[in-house]
Amino acid sequence: MTDRGPSETVTVLSGATVITMDGARRVLADGAVAFSESLLAVGPTAEVLAAHPGADVIDCAGRVVLPGFVNTHTHLFQTLLKGLGDDRVLSDWFLTMTGPSAVQLTPEDCYAAALHGCAEALTTGTTTLLDFMYVHPRDGLGDAVAAAMSDVGIRGVMARGYMTAGADVGAPPELVEPLDAALSDAERLIAEWNRPGSRVTAALAPCMSWTVDEATLRETRALADRTGALVTMHLSESPFDVEESMRRFGMRDVPFAAHTGLLGPDLLAAHCVQVDVADLDLIQESDTKVSHNPCSNLYLGSGFAPVPAMHRRGITVGLASDGPASSSNHSMLQAMKFAALLHKGVHRDPEIMTAEKALEMATIDGARALGLEHAVGSLEVGKRADVVVLDMTNLCTTPVHSAVSSLVYSQRGDEVERVYVDGRLVVDDGHLVTVDEAEVRSRSAAAAAGLAARAGTDRFAHREWRSMVGR
Ligand SMILES: [Zn+2]
Repeated sequence: MTDRGPSETVTVLSGATVITMDGARRVLADGAVAFSESLLAVGPTAEVLAAHPGADVIDCAGRVVLPGFVNTHTHLFQTLLKGLGDDRVLSDWFLTMTGPSAVQLTPEDCYAAALHGCAEALTTGTTTLLDFMYVHPRDGLGDAVAAAMSDVGIRGVMARGYMTAGADVGAPPELVEPLDAALSDAERLIAEWNRPGSRVTAALAPCMSWTVDEATLRETRALADRTGALVTMHLSESPFDVEESMRRFGMRDVPFAAHTGLLGPDLLAAHCVQVDVADLDLIQESDTKVSHNPCSNLYLGSGFAPVPAMHRRGITVGLASDGPASSSNHSMLQAMKFAALLHKGVHRDPEIMTAEKALEMATIDGARALGLEHAVGSLEVGKRADVVVLDMTNLCTTPVHSAVSSLVYSQRGDEVERVYVDGRLVVDDGHLVTVDEAEVRSRSAAAAAGLAARAGTDRFAHREWRSMVGR
């Protein structure tokens, strides 16, 4: 018996505005895409239909068709922590809320959180997501995240993170792992998931400068070179990251990462908010990639990354939500709007960040940041069929003069109608088809309540009305 999968069926999305994100950045006014597991044609509707008689044709008039978004940085377990971390700087936020919550995580919590977080991502148009999973108080948490990614149907990178130091500055001791144990678990996950054609893969994630030592970064580099796995690390997110690196290692965290050999084309540096000119030189020279998290950086008051300067240097910058404990959702539509507006505002220059660039960061640049540009990030024949259909006929987005402008600035966030990953329909009429949404929500609600009670963080949920805080 042969496996008659979705590769047997050809789907054509016709009559749409197709934003290809290909090399020429073509936007087709009456366009169509044909695909099975991979993209077979992208072009004018009449041509695509003529070339694919017998296809399953879906009329997409009034719709935008584009490649699925690539979210380059989140922490899925934080889906259970929404609303508990308001109005705190990063170190306080981590040490009093996120850290104590992480200590209590079980595999069931991580599965429930990842299922919910990936469901949010898919229903808001994200087809590829990197989870920076850096907390392992007990075994099996990375496995639970990867299993949820697999079950819900998203393209996932489960970055197996680790903290190997930092108890002296308040990192919960339960979260500090011996380096050998962390790396052997990471290597096991890489062997298990990084197979040809696998939709879910594993990567390496030393957490941040104040929770690692020199050996951690050197051995991470060696393991990455041996396995070909992507590496990602928080770098220069908050002033504390830089100050602690100076105190521990006598240099800022980007030069320290360079000193250990960690920088390189396969390193995705998350945040880079506090970087100086010398740091940018190191990132540029090594072709290190950057993940930009505007909503999270603003929520924590961390500042803003010098993204326009990175772009002028040719540094690849992918966009991200960051974990919902500091961004409160996984919407890349929201991240795009914040990214575009933030840089216009802080530079007092409306030309410094365009809607087009925000969309590039959310798609093709993000794919490049994850080393996946050969497979996703644009609608081009031969790439995987990770395709999103948005209904642009609602009151907020109409009238549409420019599809890209409406997409970035006018959307209200619920336009996503259909989502395909590897040509498989995973969202239909705005709702998940792979997993029951009500079950996802009830499962995560129960996990969130249980976790807050065990961690004692439910006290942050019962708070005074605060028009002003402190000072
Ligand atoms: Zn992060």
